[in-house]
Amino acid sequence: MDGKTLRAGAVASLKHIKNPINLARLVMEKSGHVMMDGEGAEAFAAANGVELVDQKYFYTEERWQALQKMKEAEKRGGVGGKKFIVTDQDRHGTVGAVALDKNGNLAAATSTGGTTNKKAGRVGDSPIIGGGTYANNATCAVSATGDGEYFIRSVVAHDISALMEYRGMKLQEAAQMVLDKVAKLGGTGGLIAIDHDGNIALPFNTSGMYRGHVGVDGEFVVEIYR
Ligand code: ASP
Repeated sequence: MDGKTLRAGAVASLKHIKNPINLARLVMEKSGHVMMDGEGAEAFAAANGVELVDQKYFYTEERWQALQKMKEAEKRGGVGGKKFIVTDQDRHGTVGAVALDKNGNLAAATSTGGTTNKKAGRVGDSPIIGGGTYANNATCAVSATGDGEYFIRSVVAHDISALMEYRGMKLQEAAQMVLDKVAKLGGTGGLIAIDHDGNIALPFNTSGMYRGHVGVDGEFVVEIYR
């Protein structure tokens, strides 16, 4: 999402797109639509010269094992117990980015394979504009990770922006308030956000969240746990 123009592009239910964010951008710039999914989105990609890859490209041993673990846990009636230490890493694999440029423009992008062991056809919060992703130059840019269903229901990314816009809240306070709302419903996760002044907020209610940031001083900070 482009915070200057409030234009947005999103794709979902893809099987062969190597770089979905590039396709989301193409949807934003060239399709006349905001969101495209499945075969139609892939046909649009092919027609516009986007690289399509065999599904084998997406295979990794780590994710395969995580899926097996989740399936086994499901069979035995749920996660938990000694045999099924299902970690946050097993359950999620989302990558998000938010940025502020020197002209004051904000942007946000989120890419995910969705939650592990989801049902076919399930779409999470990542491509939902206002749910897992949002950017507005007047307020902030947000990208979320976690139990997508709760993030959609709480309209997380837009809610943070709205608290800043209509209530004059600061980013950190707004982000925490909305994440607390998610937690109250029973959802876990976190988010990364940056406002129009370059302030950042990286709240999460899980044991950890892989995260990093870099400011004008050029110093990279990378963290996992609290
Ligand atoms: N939020 C993503 C989804 O629900 C999953 C994740 O962040 O790992 O699809």
